Order: sequence, then C-alpha cells, then structure tokens
Amino acid sequence: LTQQLIEMIQQHRPEIVLAGATALGRALTPRVAAALPTGLSADCIDLEIDAEKRLLLQTKPTFGGNIMAIITCPKARPQMATVRPHVFSRHEPDSRRKGEIVKLDFNRERITSRTKLLDFVAEITETVRIEEADVIIAGGRGLEKAENFEMLDELASVMGAAVGATRAAVDEGWTTYSHQIGQTGKTVCPRLYIAVGISGALQHVVGMQTSECIVAINEDPNAPIFEVATYGIVGDLFQVVPLLTEKLKKR
Ligand SMILES: Cc1cc2nc3c(=O)[nH]c(=O)nc-3n(C[C@H](O)[C@H](O)[C@H](O)COP(=O)(O)OP(=O)(O)OC[C@H]3O[C@@H](n4cnc5c(N)ncnc54)[C@H](O)[C@@H]3O)c2cc1C
Repeated sequence: LTQQLIEMIQQHRPEIVLAGATALGRALTPRVAAALPTGLSADCIDLEIDAEKRLLLQTKPTFGGNIMAIITCPKARPQMATVRPHVFSRHEPDSRRKGEIVKLDFNRERITSRTKLLDFVAEITETVRIEEADVIIAGGRGLEKAENFEMLDELASVMGAAVGATRAAVDEGWTTYSHQIGQTGKTVCPRLYIAVGISGALQHVVGMQTSECIVAINEDPNAPIFEVATYGIVGDLFQVVPLLTEKLKKR
C-alpha cells in the first residue's frame, strides 16, 4: 500500500494529503512521507488553509499538551497530516462545492497484506462504547468519589447513553481509562454531551468540543466549560442529576 500511494502522489502531485490518525493511517503515512520525502504532522486536532500562502495550517497539542502549535510545511510538497478521528463534526453535503473526484485504479495484488485474518473476537462490553455513542454523560472531579459515578450510570441507562470521564476522575480511580475523553484519552463527537462536574480544561475540551449539543452542569458560573456549552446549568450536580433522571424515567 505504501508504494502504491507514493506512486499516486508522484503522478498526481497533490498539494495536500490527509489521513485519519487511525491504526492504519498512523502506520502508513510516515512511511509515505519519509519516502517522498516531505513533512508530516501527526495527530492534528484542527486544520485550516492560508489561501494567500497556499499553506495548510495544522494544529496539534505540544509541550505535554500545554500549548497548541500551528505547523506549516512551506517548502516540501505534498503537505501531509493525520487527523484524530471525530475532531470534526459531520456537515451536510454542500451542492455549491464543485470539487472533482478522481477515481484511481490500483493494483489489488500489490496491496494484499501478508497478514491473514484467522478469527474475529468482539470485545465484550456491557455498556455503550463512548466512541460510538450518540449521547455521552461525562463526569469529572466534581463527583467527589467513585460511588457517585453510579448516579451517571443510572442517568445513562435511562437515556441509552455511554459514560465518559475526565482524566482527573480516571486518575482518582473512579472509572477506567477506556472512559477517558480528551487529549490523552478518546476524541468523541456525539449528538449530545452532558458534562457533569467538569471544569472544561483545554485538554478535556479538545476531545469533545465538536459534539453537536453540549450541556454543562457545574456549580461555578465561571467554569470554562460554559464557554463551549450550548446549554449551561449552574447548580449542584447532586441535585440536578437525580432530578433529570427522575424526570426522564417518567417519560
Ligand atoms: C498533558 C496533559 C494531558 C491531559 N489529558 C487530559 C485528557 O485526556 N482528558 C482530561 O479530561 N484531562 C486531561 N488533562 C487534565 C486536565 O488538564 C484537567 O486537569 C482535567 O480535565 C480536570 O478534570 P475535571 O474537570 O474533572 O476536574 P476539575 O478541574 O477539578 O473540575 C471539577 C469541576 O467540578 C465542579 N464541581 C465541584 N463540585 C460540584 C458540584 N457539587 N456540582 C456541580 N459542579 C461541581 C467545579 O466547579 C469544577 O469546575 C491533561 C493534562 C495534561 C497536562
């Protein structure tokens, strides 16, 4: 696959080559970039175009996630980047855009992997996976202890939602790492994200900010989470969450 992609790029000379920062994208693109040779920004969380300079502006967290760096590749072509899955929300098709789609032929034999799939073993999980959930209820340090996450589990089961968490809650041992959302956890883009007792630190927000609708429940009216929230409830989560669960159960 690497050689096939290199040849396609050499033949068609694109300005930009993008891939998802998935297991395949992360393995394939560095090999292609090194062979061409050109630069590659891995794991970007935002992309923009500087039309005047014909540059792709590639944003990614750096210095341990404390700052966001904008990387450009001014000399070599193509400009290559991998992008974290789910960081962009899905848009409706725009019929005014007239980009040309070129379908290329490729030699199937050359991309046949030497790996053979012997069996498929599904991961057994009793709850909804956060990467696939339409609704996520995420808890933070405001929940105070592990037992209080049960309150979120109850609300989640009423809504058919998955339960997520901040790194603070995971570090406290209140839930497991597979629930962590953010820069060093999962990136999600559900239709509804309910943030409970979460301050809205940048490292958390980068993992959920493209959610369609964000509801924040926090007792501090100045919490940064309200800056990205569609709806904000300033109040004590220990009152708001049970009330919400009770109301929804009655529906
Ligand atoms: C390199 C690096 C990577 C990181 N990666 C991640 C990551 O992937 N994901 C992540 O989440 N974080 C990550 N962090 C940590 C991040 O910086 C924050 O520390 C973390 O997100 C804070 O979690 P929190 O909002 O649960 O806790 P806090 O910031 O302590 O916020 C708790 C909130 O709960 C509210 N609250 C308290 N009691 C109540 C109540 N009774 N009712 C209502 N509200 C209440 C408070 O007002 C407060 O706003 C990372 C940090 C670094 C440096």
